[in-house]
Amino acid sequence: MSELSSPEAGLRASVLTCMDHRLDPLAILGLEQREAHVVRNAGGYVTGDAIRSLCLSQQLAGAIRIVVVHHTDCRASEQTAERYRALVEASTGVSPSWDVEPVPDPHQRVKAAMEQLSASPLLDTSRLEGYIYDVDDGSLTPVE
Ligand SMILES: [Zn+2]
Repeated sequence: MSELSSPEAGLRASVLTCMDHRLDPLAILGLEQREAHVVRNAGGYVTGDAIRSLCLSQQLAGAIRIVVVHHTDCRASEQTAERYRALVEASTGVSPSWDVEPVPDPHQRVKAAMEQLSASPLLDTSRLEGYIYDVDDGSLTPVE
């Protein structure tokens, strides 16, 4: 059980992570459903909407920690943004205007996310944590 978990506490954290089905962020962090807001998107990237959700989690619900969890073997991070746009355009006929540039290395992704979150004036990042979840062995490695 993670140190984030506390039976007497209410909301303990806001978690930003990937939508990948192999991740159960609450179980990974040892949190109960009532203890965390979970913000998910393809790759777990810091987008405008992710910041909006994390900000409201802090302002409206009092989440004090922001926890970033990225993972190994992230299919949303294997290609360039240009390649993902081309894949979508080939299938739908529309080239999306997504502005996220995928980063293949999970360590670099977590570091970049933590830097981006720290740079946001909308967030309290005094208790910001980052981890890499290994989808093969289930281990969770902190990123300093
Ligand atoms: Zn992923």
